[in-house]
Amino acid sequence: MVATQPQSVPTRAHARYDVIVVGAGFTGLYMLHRLRKLGLSARVFEQGGDVGGTWYWNRYPGARCDVESMQYSFSFDEALQREWDWSERYAPQPEILRYANHVADRFDLRKDIQLDTRVESAVFDETSNEWTVTTSDGATVTAPYVVLGTGCLSNARVPEFKGMGDFKGQVYHTGHWPHEPVDFTGLRVGVIGTGSSAIQSIPLIAEQASELFVFQRTANFSVPARNAPLSAGEREAWRKDYAEIRRRAREDMKNGIVQPVPDRGALDDPDEVRREKYGARWNSGGLTFMGVYNNLVLDQPANDTAADFIRERIAGIVADPETSRLLQPNDHPVGSKRICVDTDYYATFNRPNVKLVDIRSHPIERIQPHAVRSGGRDYQVDALVLATGFDAMTGSVAKIDIRGRGGRTLNDKWAEGPRTYLGLMSAGFPNLFIVTGPGSPSVLSNMIVSIEQHVDWIADCLAYMRDRGVGSIEATHSAEDRWVAHVNEVAGSTLYPQANSWYMGANIPGKPQIFMPYIGGVGVYRQICNDVAAKDYDGFAMVVAARPQAAAGG
Ligand code: NAP
Repeated sequence: MVATQPQSVPTRAHARYDVIVVGAGFTGLYMLHRLRKLGLSARVFEQGGDVGGTWYWNRYPGARCDVESMQYSFSFDEALQREWDWSERYAPQPEILRYANHVADRFDLRKDIQLDTRVESAVFDETSNEWTVTTSDGATVTAPYVVLGTGCLSNARVPEFKGMGDFKGQVYHTGHWPHEPVDFTGLRVGVIGTGSSAIQSIPLIAEQASELFVFQRTANFSVPARNAPLSAGEREAWRKDYAEIRRRAREDMKNGIVQPVPDRGALDDPDEVRREKYGARWNSGGLTFMGVYNNLVLDQPANDTAADFIRERIAGIVADPETSRLLQPNDHPVGSKRICVDTDYYATFNRPNVKLVDIRSHPIERIQPHAVRSGGRDYQVDALVLATGFDAMTGSVAKIDIRGRGGRTLNDKWAEGPRTYLGLMSAGFPNLFIVTGPGSPSVLSNMIVSIEQHVDWIADCLAYMRDRGVGSIEATHSAEDRWVAHVNEVAGSTLYPQANSWYMGANIPGKPQIFMPYIGGVGVYRQICNDVAAKDYDGFAMVVAARPQAAAGG
């Protein structure tokens, strides 16, 4: 690998780079920036029509981040974090997308990003230690290194409902929302699913639709967001302590979201104190509800206290007793599926034009040309919104034909569930890095904190290898086995595996059920990664290049 100046490169010719990055979401943007700083040539391929990843695709009404904007933002550049003014406590999707575009422009990243281009395959050549990548525009490019920044919630899942093709109205998936405004005014709308995406969009769709049917299979726990505009004074207060806040996020023992640290378990407080604490968090709003006590995801009786509190609140909001009963989750511990954050979700069911349909008791039998049939009844709808989630964490990786040593595909290796070392690499696939992959804190964390940590680790690793003339790095099978066992062990000590969640792959028929993210906390994980690097990349096999790597570039 020879340092080259960043340069604009031809799109269709056979080109060679130091690094190929898949995806121009927050990972791709920051990875490209770091690679440029190292003087490496890189090409980023992005299947979307612009940068932004998740925030490019998820444009459904009400889409916003459930991590506060002052924390869901890059920390790597001081000027960037001081110049960007978030307008609300929880930034809406269009603003996050503008931010991603701002980052791309500010750091002049676009010239190395090729949009509207899917990576179809990546094949490793053991002789040259290089990956050959083919793209949807028919081009072939090569590079010693590939970084997958494909995102964890980017492969939208459309369930195979019988008769779907017969439906005469418009069908939308929340994760693949059109770029043009969608107007449901005067329409009868069906929303299938009641996860985070549905819970954010339902209150807004209900304001437009003449009638809204919400088809619920599993009730989810949701807490109020209490979203509000951010004043200049509030932003300044954050910025005053930004260095310390960012440090605490990186070293956080949980998810990389700075919040008060609980000093006790739920059962250590008497009833009335506990209720007061839950009430205070409910009133202040947001994901931090689960941080009231330190054992809510560890201990079932402790968890029950929080679940009961939320169920009571639902009962207090929803007027119709049967609807209220159905909306109260009862089949999984609170927090074992990602807790949702909403604005007026439960109250929406008090509107006369909104009806909850229980498809747990009466599964959808088929989609009719103008209706959804469940329990022998046709619910007449003009438009359908599928808020049915994603083939999470591995889905977008699986869509690429990745072939490592001996021509073995990654899909074949992961047939029984994903296996990685630190979530960063998978044995048998040298020089292929994964960002926020299975086996890393990933979706259990503030994604930007994790993305920055991974990208920095990878960039430092590439610099280390260059300095020592190392041509390939690969996770060893033994290190991977130990890490997979550790990830499972930590998950097994929590209540998480009790839910049929997408964390477990349970939402995809036939997908192996394994708890995918690492739940040990971003601080612990960071320390482990740093220790591995300090011990000359312990658990990774590095091979010195047989010959100097050829100059990279187009
Ligand atoms: P999701 O949580 O996977 O929810 C999918 C919903 O569709 C579930 O209610 C599921 O029911 C239902 N469903 C799936 N297949 C179905 C079928 N065949 N028949 C009937 N119902 C079906 O997906 P999501 O809401 O898009 O959220 C995914 C993740 O994205 C979230 O957990 C969160 O991490 C992230 N997200 C974050 C935000 C935010 O930052 N605020 C917003 C949106 C999403 P079952 O539960 O019964 O399977």
